[in-house]
Amino acid sequence: MMITDTQTGTRHRGNVLRGIEKAAGTSTGITGLVALYLASAVLQGMAFVLSIPIFRFILEGRSIDAWQVMLFVASIVLAFAAHMTGLLRSSRISVYAMCDRIVRRIGSKVTRLPLGWFDSTSASKVSNAMSEDVQTLSHLGPVVLPGLISGIVTPLTVAVAVLFIQPLVGVLLLIVVPLAAICMYWSVRVLQRVHPLERAADLRFSQAVLEDAALQPVLRSSGQSGMAWEHMRQAVDDDTRMGISRLKAEGRPSMFFQLGTQLCFAGALIVTTVAAYGQSVDAALFAVLCLLAIRCVEPLTLAVQYSDELYRDNAAIDAVQQILEVPELPEPDSPQLPESYDIELQDVGFGYRRSEAILSHVDAVISPGGITVLEGPSGAGKSTLARLISRFWDVDTGRVNIGGVDVRDIGSTAVMAMSSFVFQDVFLFDTTVLENIRIGRPDATRQEILDAAHSARLDEVIERLPLGWDSPVGPRGALLSGGERQRVAIARALLKDAPILVLDEVTSALDNTNEAAILSVLRQYAQDKTVIMIAHRTKAIAAASKVLHVESGSVRSVDISDAVDPE
Ligand code: ADP
Repeated sequence: MMITDTQTGTRHRGNVLRGIEKAAGTSTGITGLVALYLASAVLQGMAFVLSIPIFRFILEGRSIDAWQVMLFVASIVLAFAAHMTGLLRSSRISVYAMCDRIVRRIGSKVTRLPLGWFDSTSASKVSNAMSEDVQTLSHLGPVVLPGLISGIVTPLTVAVAVLFIQPLVGVLLLIVVPLAAICMYWSVRVLQRVHPLERAADLRFSQAVLEDAALQPVLRSSGQSGMAWEHMRQAVDDDTRMGISRLKAEGRPSMFFQLGTQLCFAGALIVTTVAAYGQSVDAALFAVLCLLAIRCVEPLTLAVQYSDELYRDNAAIDAVQQILEVPELPEPDSPQLPESYDIELQDVGFGYRRSEAILSHVDAVISPGGITVLEGPSGAGKSTLARLISRFWDVDTGRVNIGGVDVRDIGSTAVMAMSSFVFQDVFLFDTTVLENIRIGRPDATRQEILDAAHSARLDEVIERLPLGWDSPVGPRGALLSGGERQRVAIARALLKDAPILVLDEVTSALDNTNEAAILSVLRQYAQDKTVIMIAHRTKAIAAASKVLHVESGSVRSVDISDAVDPE
């Protein structure tokens, strides 16, 4: 069965077992689990059939052989043993062989993904795959498979056996099979339509909640906070409507199946009763059918609902695979390390989409010994250019050389080791100021960290914090101001002391005094290093030894005096 998610354009191959093995990257033992559940379900069905002579013995006083009793007991014991072995194994398989491996594979993939892959949505994709999707898959072994297999296979085994004892009753019981298939197909079709719409509504709702929190000052000042904000009200209404329509849509196949199953069992009981009057069937078969109805109708109905779970498992596998299949940058077999750190762009062309070039035929040289500023209008491609140097992506045409060696021959790990970045949007970990700086060079001494912090003008910040250097900065550095966060990130980069430093609008949140002080530190740092700084502000541009103007996909060198606007 191939299920196509029409909204996202993704395709979920119906073989969930193969999907799991592919996502885990190895054999998980889930097929063995299916075999155990199948064996248990068939044995349970056989136990029902083998109970007929026992009922005949009890109800009608007919003779029974010892082997018949032994077979009955053996089938019950073996069914129980197979089921329990399956359940015990399923926890190990789910936790270690499936979920743990999938989480580790995603974790390891994330470390190899091109840095350019990471944008505002990538964090939620990875966290959803590692938490929600893996959790969905964890139900497969211990819940979905045993429920689905025993719900269908046990009554099916009995129905096939009854076909030989009382054909009409067997046929009535077997009608449930195509009925289940139709309802499962129906259920999956419904999910195919509703699931992407519901996911999209969920996403809009959570985005609206985040926006609502971030926009509180604006919304309150215009009297629109909470549900008074049309955007929020719309998102909540859509989410509720989608939830209700999914419940309604999902409920129909299941109700239809429940009704059909009850009718088939009722028909089988009526036929058996009528036959009993005509002496063509004994009370034993009637008793077994009653037991079967009591024992199997509900699990059978639940089995149809488990087909929904299979759809969700396929969707989860698909989400995991989408991350695992992101192309990685080709890495050299024997990386070549440059001996110097001058950067040269030769006829560079690059676009995020094939049809849209952001940079074309770019030639530029960036030398150590001074700050090279990239300036130009917003959206011109300055950040893209700076990131191409550090191999966030590979160029489409031309080459980027460091010390005369193509960055593709140097390899991502070595390029990263020789570069430091400070971006406008600084990310700090929820730990102390000191530890946030230490990440730049984990083996640095406390004194080295303090020196870097001092250069980044952090002393005055530390004096204000209650625990000094050991003060926590809060989630994402929320306890510090934008300018203070930038200074922590600059200290981190200074501590790393890498030969190439890329700075993207790093002085934008600093006051004049701190900006001047940090620019002077950076100028000093640049004396024997390659420093690239994206900047708009006059002071920053004035600190440059070279200015490259980026506009309309091309780059040209300009005089510093031309680039500096009088403020
Ligand atoms: P600048 O730094 O000069 O403001 P950028 O290099 O950030 O410009 O962006 C250049 C163009 O590339 C813009 O049109 C921007 O929308 C687009 N862009 C930037 N990053 C991405 C991305 N990850 N995916 C797709 N388009 C992007």
